[in-house]
Amino acid sequence: MLTDVEIAQSAVMEPIQEIAKKVGLNEDDLELYGKYKAKISLEAINQLQSKDNGKLILVTAINPTPAGEGKTTTMIGLSQALNKLGKKSVVAMREPSLGPCFGIKGGAAGGGYAQVVPMEDINLHFTGDIHAITTANNLIAAMLDNSIQQGNPLDIDTRQIVWKRCVDLNDRALRHIVVGLGGKVNGVPREDGFDISVASEVMAILCLATSLEDLKQRAGRMIVAYNHAGEPVTVDDIQATGAVTLLLKDAIKPNLVQTLDHTPVFVHGGPFANIAHGCNSVMATTLAMKLGDYAITEAGFGADLGAEKFLDIKCRQAGLKPDAVVIVATVRALKMHGGVAKKDLGEENLEALRKGIENLEKHIENIHKYHLPSVVAINAFPTDTEAELQLLKDICLQKGVDVAISEVWAKGADGGIELAEKLLDVLDTQAADFEPLYDLDLSIEEKIKVIAREIYGANDVTFTKKVINKMKKYEAQGLGKLPICIAKTQYSLSDDPTLLGRPSGFVVKINDLIPNTGAGFLVAISGDIMRMPGLPKQPAAVNMDIDEDGKIVGLF
Ligand code: ADP
Ligand code: MG
Repeated sequence: MLTDVEIAQSAVMEPIQEIAKKVGLNEDDLELYGKYKAKISLEAINQLQSKDNGKLILVTAINPTPAGEGKTTTMIGLSQALNKLGKKSVVAMREPSLGPCFGIKGGAAGGGYAQVVPMEDINLHFTGDIHAITTANNLIAAMLDNSIQQGNPLDIDTRQIVWKRCVDLNDRALRHIVVGLGGKVNGVPREDGFDISVASEVMAILCLATSLEDLKQRAGRMIVAYNHAGEPVTVDDIQATGAVTLLLKDAIKPNLVQTLDHTPVFVHGGPFANIAHGCNSVMATTLAMKLGDYAITEAGFGADLGAEKFLDIKCRQAGLKPDAVVIVATVRALKMHGGVAKKDLGEENLEALRKGIENLEKHIENIHKYHLPSVVAINAFPTDTEAELQLLKDICLQKGVDVAISEVWAKGADGGIELAEKLLDVLDTQAADFEPLYDLDLSIEEKIKVIAREIYGANDVTFTKKVINKMKKYEAQGLGKLPICIAKTQYSLSDDPTLLGRPSGFVVKINDLIPNTGAGFLVAISGDIMRMPGLPKQPAAVNMDIDEDGKIVGLF
């Protein structure tokens, strides 16, 4: 089997105008970024407002292993298969971040014969959206420090600055830093730190905005610091709103690319699901629903993080009503949940698989709490044995779970026909009646408890003294009605990455609570989760290279 990048490089792409035509967009609707990438103009998006929506399908997964479980691959392959069956299917997905790309995971534009191309561009700088977000974030930081330097007219308390700088790399050395050293002309010294760009609230507002005007409103509302009286200081207060929106004027437009078999894909926005809300932009999802009869989208990591936030934050805010959820499971990850060590995953182990399925079961139960039908997609890996795949499928069938084996990684569209047909059948026969999990009128504490108990399976939640005080403060400031975005490890249903399977009897610990008033949610930080990841001992970057002809290797 060729590597992902080799398969992508051998693909013959169609000009992006041809891809646009397939969904009724013409040249005037496009802003070209070379031959194979285009942004969709805001006028074109406006003109589509009155069009009916296609069905919305979310692809999510069980709790993953460090390499990812193939959600993106399955989503792309599923869309390829639907198109092969003559259905008009359009993907809306996230743009990969450079952090995991050079870190542990490699690219994130699908894999095998289910990929989005041009894969190298999508995985590297693409159309520059993440750079624009980084710049907008850092302009706010620069203007904030400058306001303090120029006499501090807003009376900002330098010990209560909540706005971090950001960079789209995994760089743990930047987590805690001191800025402003070097004397009077070089700023006011204070503790600072970097988050990865995809965890910036600017990424969140770009992904949740429904228009440029909405983006501007959201940008202005973002809290950057508190003054000495404890009152919030916003982007509006430091007078950065206009310039920030200006920096994002192109980044807000969804990017059109294609799958290996020339079906349309929007790649737009890329927050992580563990440290942020985990979904591509509302504008790309809405566009996919306007242009396709089936819009297929993905939320990051397992369903406890990505799907929960997709449903309780994104769909609720944007008024989207999903029609079905595909839950990706792999034999490998389920064996890990059943107690097998990573190095032993290559060996058949039916007992561990049987045990690990409890993780999948919990996620299926969770999706039904939103009154949505689900289909399990078994993403088949070359190392899976026939007996393992069959056992997994049989157990699902015994439990009355809709299930299909997906071989899109090895076979592209052909490997996704079983899954596509199963999904179409579920869409035809099972009604969706989407309802968010919790009521926004609950207290902050209650909302966090509902998520932890219902979705994670926790016994209870504990809050540090700092968080208890913040909950009171935010409720007094009128922020109590916002939904919750929990930052938590992706590896476990709990906040302890070592508790695999379906843990019980655990208590979730909340250490911090940060209002993202532009995004419109409260970030509750649990466990030891970091908003700036680090690189592993052997970063993926070590194996990457480009030769003198421009040929790239090692992007997986
Ligand atoms: P996720 O979206 O869940 O993070 P991806 O779809 O990005 O996962 O896949 C993660 C990695 O696993 C990619 O490098 C991809 O090529 C690989 N992969 C996915 N599915 C398979 C499969 N069935 N067999 C082998 N490798 C796979
Ligand atoms: Mg993915």
